Amino acid sequence: MNRFETDYLIAGAGASGLSFADTLLAETDAHITLVDKRDKPGGHWNDAYPYVRLHQPSSYYGVASRDLGRAMLDTTGLNKGYEELASGQEVATYFHTVMKDRLLQSGRVRFLPMSEHLGGGEVRHLLSNKTTQIDVRHRFVDARLLENGIPLTHQRTFDVAEGVACIPPNTLPRIAPQHGHFTILGAGKTAMDSVIWLLENGADAEQIRWIVPRDPWMINRAFTQPSGAFYRESYGGTMRQMEAVTQATSMDDLADRLEAANLWMRLDPNVRPEIMHGPTVSTAELHRLREVRDILRMGHVTGIEPGSLDLAGGSCPAPAGSLYVDCTARALGHSNTWPIFQEDQIALQMIRLYQPTFSAALIAKIEASFETNKARNALAIPVPMTDTVHSWVVSQLANAMNQFNWSQNPRIKDWIATCRLDGFGRAGREVDRSDPEVQEIYNRIKALSMPAFSSMQKLAATQ
Ligand SMILES: Cc1cc2nc3c(=O)[nH]c(=O)nc-3n(C[C@H](O)[C@H](O)[C@H](O)COP(=O)(O)OP(=O)(O)OC[C@H]3O[C@@H](n4cnc5c(N)ncnc54)[C@H](O)[C@@H]3O)c2cc1C
Repeated sequence: MNRFETDYLIAGAGASGLSFADTLLAETDAHITLVDKRDKPGGHWNDAYPYVRLHQPSSYYGVASRDLGRAMLDTTGLNKGYEELASGQEVATYFHTVMKDRLLQSGRVRFLPMSEHLGGGEVRHLLSNKTTQIDVRHRFVDARLLENGIPLTHQRTFDVAEGVACIPPNTLPRIAPQHGHFTILGAGKTAMDSVIWLLENGADAEQIRWIVPRDPWMINRAFTQPSGAFYRESYGGTMRQMEAVTQATSMDDLADRLEAANLWMRLDPNVRPEIMHGPTVSTAELHRLREVRDILRMGHVTGIEPGSLDLAGGSCPAPAGSLYVDCTARALGHSNTWPIFQEDQIALQMIRLYQPTFSAALIAKIEASFETNKARNALAIPVPMTDTVHSWVVSQLANAMNQFNWSQNPRIKDWIATCRLDGFGRAGREVDRSDPEVQEIYNRIKALSMPAFSSMQKLAATQ
C-alpha cells in the first residue's frame, strides 16, 4: 500500500472542495490533497445536461481567486438585461483550469482522480483497486455533504416498461427530433430548463406535458443581480423581504407577501406552491413556462407503460410515443446539518443560503483565521437546504445569525468585502450612497433587522 502525508485531505473535488482548497491555499502554507471518484475536478458539472446554465450570475460563482465569465449583461434571450449565466460546459472548464493553473501550479496541492475515500484517510483507486493510506497532519475535509443528485447518474424511483423512451436531459437535444410529444417529469430547475429548451427550440406548447408533483416557489432573478445598477432590486428586495417577514402571520401569508413584493413567483396563480428549493428564473422564463397547459398535478410518477402513466394520485392515458425526460433527481437533498468544525475534520456545508461556493471559501478563511473550533463554529452556523416555506424561514434564521456575526468581526467583514463570491455586498459598494433613495433603503434595512429576526423566530416555531 502506498502511503504519504498531507495537511488537509479533501474528499470530493466538486465546486465545494475546490472553493475551500483555493482559499485555504491563499490563507495558509498548508499542503492539500483532493480525492474524487470522478476523473476530473468540478463534480456534477462534468455530467451536466447540455443546456444547463447557472441559476445565478457567473460573477459570484466558483472560487475566490479566479473570475468566471465577463460580468456582462445578456442583450438577447430570456435572461436579457441581467448578468450572464455561465453554461455547464463553461463551469466545468473553469474548474478544470482552477485545478491545473491554480491549485496544481502552486506545488502544494495533489489531486487523486478516480479515487474513492473509504474513511480514515484510506483511498481506493478505482481502476487498479489498489489503496493508498493518506496520513492527515491537520484535518480531513468532507466535501461530499452537498453532493448533487443528477438525472444522468441517480437511481430512478419509478418503473419504465420496455418500449417506453425515458431519457435523462443529457440526451434530449439528440433524441428530441425523433419524437412528436414530450413528457417532462419533475418540477425542479432541471425540468424548467427542459421545458424552456423545448419551447426555445421550436416545439409547440401543445406537444409538451409536464408532470408537476408539487408546485415550486421560484426566486425572481432580478433579486440576485450583484451590480450597483440593481441596488433597488437587490437591496430593495432585501428590504421588501424583511418587511414581508416582519408582517407575516403564517407561512402562506409570508409566501403571498414575498410574491406581492415581486421576489417569489409561481407557475400558476391559482395553485399554491408547496416546495421551496430556491430555483431562480427571470420573468421572461416564467412566461414561457406558463405556455404549457397540459400540467398533471397527481403526485410523483410511479411507473410508465406504453400509453399510460402511473402517478401517486392515479393512472392516466399517455400519448403513444411520448419522449419522457427524467428530471426527478433531487439536486441538493440533505436537510440535516452537522457542526462544521469538528475535532479533526471539517464538514463543509452552506453558511449562506443557496451559496455553496461562497460558503466553502469563507469556511477556509475562518479555518485559517481562528485558533479554536469554538471560535470558528460561532462564525459558521450551518444553513440547511430548504424544502418548504417553513424550512426556508429556518434557514434564513441561521443565515441572518451568520450575517450579523460576520459584520461584527473585522477580519471576516473585510475579507467578505473584497471576495468576488460575495454577490450581495457588491451592489452596496458600487451604488451612489448620497442618493436619497439608496439611503432610505439602507436605513430601512437596518431598522427592520431586529423586528424581522424576532418575527422569523416566531414563524420558525410554528411547526
Ligand atoms: C443543474 C444545477 C445547477 C446549479 N446551479 C447553481 C447555481 O447557479 N449557483 C449555485 O450556487 N449552485 C448551483 N447548483 C448547486 C450545486 O450544488 C453547487 O453549485 C455545487 O456545484 C455543488 O458542488 P459540490 O462539490 O458540493 O457537489 P458535487 O458537484 O456533487 O461534488 C461532490 C464530489 O464528491 C465526490 N465524491 C463523493 N463521494 C466521494 C468519495 N467517497 N471519495 C471521493 N470523492 C467522492 C463526487 O464524485 C463529486 O465529484 C446547481 C446544481 C445543479 C445540479
